[in-house]
Amino acid sequence: MTLIRPDLDTLPAYVPGKTIPGAIKLASNEVALPPTPKVLAAMAEAAATGNRYPDLAVTGLTARLAEARGVAPERIAVGCGSVSLCQQLVQATCREPTDEVVFAWRSFEAYPIVSQIGGATIRTVPIDAEFRHDVDAMAAAVGPNTRLVFVCSPNNPTGTVVTRAELERLLAAVPSDVLVALDEAYHEYVTDPDAVDGMALIDEHPNLVVLRTFSKAYRLAAVRVGYAIGSPEVATALRKVCSPFSVSTIAQAAAIAALDDEEALLSGCASVIEERVRVRDALVDAGFTVPPTQSNFVWLALGERTAPFAAHCLDHKVVVRPFHPDGVRVTVSTPEENDAFLAAARAFAG
Ligand code: PMP
Repeated sequence: MTLIRPDLDTLPAYVPGKTIPGAIKLASNEVALPPTPKVLAAMAEAAATGNRYPDLAVTGLTARLAEARGVAPERIAVGCGSVSLCQQLVQATCREPTDEVVFAWRSFEAYPIVSQIGGATIRTVPIDAEFRHDVDAMAAAVGPNTRLVFVCSPNNPTGTVVTRAELERLLAAVPSDVLVALDEAYHEYVTDPDAVDGMALIDEHPNLVVLRTFSKAYRLAAVRVGYAIGSPEVATALRKVCSPFSVSTIAQAAAIAALDDEEALLSGCASVIEERVRVRDALVDAGFTVPPTQSNFVWLALGERTAPFAAHCLDHKVVVRPFHPDGVRVTVSTPEENDAFLAAARAFAG
C-alpha cells in the first residue's frame, strides 16, 4: 500500500501562466484592466463581513444570474471558477474507473487533470487540420461507458469555435444519459454569427450544461467565480458535490456588481475584438500559422519551435504560454502590449 493513491504520480500539473516582474504577461488570457470602480466598491463592502461565512446557497448571485440570463434559479450552479465546475461535473457523472470523459485535444488543459482526479478514463479526439473540434469524430468516440463530453467553444488554446449546427449534430448523436458540457469561458468575445450559444440550446437538451466565468470579460480572475446553467437535475448535482463555502462573500458581491455593470464590461471587450484581427494579420504576414480567433488570444501552431519561441519572447520581456510541441497561446491585450509581442514575434520570424 502507498499513503497516496499511486495514479496521482502521472497527474499532469496545471501550469499557470508565469508572472515575471518587468515583463508583459500574455500567458493567462486575463484582461489588462482592473475590475470597474463599482465592482471594486462592492468587493470592499463585502470584505467588511470577512469574519462571517459566505452564503452557502449563493442566493443573491444565483437570483441575479437567473434574471440576467432568463432562466429559473434552480437551473444555475455557481462555483469557485468554472475550472472547479469542470471538476464537479466529473464528480457528478463518473464513479467507476471505466467511466469515460470525452474531449477534443488539444483543448483546455484542466480537462485531463479533473478527469484523472475523478478517477475516470480519458478519451481524447484530435482537433482537425483547422484547429477546430471534430464533432463527428467526438460523436463516434462516445460509447457505452461515456458519461461526460467537454466541448470548448471558443477552444482554449486554439481560439476556434464550434458552430450551432455542429453542436446540434453532436447532441443528436449522443445518448440522453451522457452529459455534454459546453465550456464558454470566452463567450463574450464571440462575434461569429454561426458560433454556438449554449443558452439557445439548453431548453431543448436537458443533457446540455453551459459553463461561463467571471474571470475573463468580467475581469475577476483572482476572485474565483463561474457558473453552470443546465437542467435543475444537473445544477442540483453540481451543488451537491461542491466543496462548502467555496464561493466567497467577496466573490458573490463582485459578480453581482459585475452583472450590474455588464454594459461597461462588455463594451470593454470591443478593443480586444479589434486587436485580435490586427494581431493575427500581422502574425500571418510574418509567416506564422494562426487560425482565426473568436477569443481574447491567438494560437501560433509552431510545432517543435514552440519552446524556442516562448524562450525568445521571454528574452523580449513578453511571457507567452507554450504547449510544447503543439504551439503557443498568446493573450490579445492592449495595443501597446500587443505591439511588444508582435515585435518579438517578428524578430523570431526574421
Ligand atoms: N474554461 C476554459 C476554456 C478556460 O480557458 C478557463 C480559464 N483558463 C476556464 C474554464 C476556467 O476559468 P475560471 O476557473 O477562472 O472560471
